Amino acid sequence: MNIKRIKAKFIYLVFLTALVFSLGAIPGMAHEVNNSELMAQVFAAAEAELGGIEPENTLIITDLGSPAESYVFLDEFYSEFYERDLLYTKNLLVVQNSRNSPLWFAFFDKSSGNCTYIEVSYGNESEISYQVTENIAFDALSKNQESIAAWNEKVNAKVFDGREFAILTISNGWATGKFDYELMQCLELHNHFCPGVSSGFVLAHWMEENYPLEEGVSYTVFSCPNWCKEDVFVKRWDTTPGKGGIWVSSLTDNEKEAIGNSPAGIFVVTDKNAGTIKAVVLGFDFNVVNAESGAKTDDPAWVSKYLADLWLMDQDNWDKEGLVSVISVIDIDEATLNEMKRADNNPYVVLGLLNPAGNVNPSKNGIPGIGNWANKFKPMQKV
Ligand SMILES: [Zn+2]
Repeated sequence: MNIKRIKAKFIYLVFLTALVFSLGAIPGMAHEVNNSELMAQVFAAAEAELGGIEPENTLIITDLGSPAESYVFLDEFYSEFYERDLLYTKNLLVVQNSRNSPLWFAFFDKSSGNCTYIEVSYGNESEISYQVTENIAFDALSKNQESIAAWNEKVNAKVFDGREFAILTISNGWATGKFDYELMQCLELHNHFCPGVSSGFVLAHWMEENYPLEEGVSYTVFSCPNWCKEDVFVKRWDTTPGKGGIWVSSLTDNEKEAIGNSPAGIFVVTDKNAGTIKAVVLGFDFNVVNAESGAKTDDPAWVSKYLADLWLMDQDNWDKEGLVSVISVIDIDEATLNEMKRADNNPYVVLGLLNPAGNVNPSKNGIPGIGNWANKFKPMQKV
């Protein structure tokens, strides 16, 4: 190969490389997200608004990592975060959102009650697209009718882009200093703090106390009827739907009435060592919470729900009579457990706690329980 040919090849290679780079620069062709210093901008903006980000006063809530390709900011975010001596377990809650959610950050300052909410856009250009600072101290907002009306207006105007309830309740709950970190971990999945998720936390503790999760013991949850509580079980026990740990379905009001004691779900405890499977049927009564929390009937939801959360956060209240009730504990076998999982079966009917018409509690009528009639009437009549 002579020098001329090598030279020609080299020029060809340079030309090709230049072509590849220039193609990459054409808008729409580049898939790499430009993440240059966007997180530094976000932190600086919050710092300017709040007058500083102090480890003892700050909670950052964000959905970073959930919106599409937002993971590219993770390293820069944590570098900014740790530069300010913030701690993962003390100053941060990374909530799960859907992939098409905006990327947002809420910086809450406990000392002032101020919260700076920031949304960013990213892609070809990265920038702060929305920013607002509001005082969200619950005591001040709920002080009187005027303050309540003022915040209601901001909720209606979606001042935090629809995340007012989530940010207000999580921030104020955290500010009490009594937030159980394991509850916070559930809120990461659930992405807001509500009495429903709090009730799941209470029920989870009840189960762990009464049927300890020891070696060889596992739970299968029939969250029926379903409400926000399920996400606690998924997080705490790894009872994911994909692994068959949780089965979720609803009940009609008549079915709830027939079962009685405000049914919350059926917690099946499989103990491999003992060779037993027990269906623990529990009720959870929100009337007890509402009677005790101090909420008034005309309070808006953000007031009554936060007051219920506060009451449910206090472990001293967990033994309140009627809050959690045992509807039934039934020994079952593998075949019954499999029947309970089937799409056309109501697990309460399978257990004999509800007749297939859904409106009579068989135990009250002396109808025999499991197995005798459980699977004979399909589909279940809706009433
Ligand atoms: Zn909820």
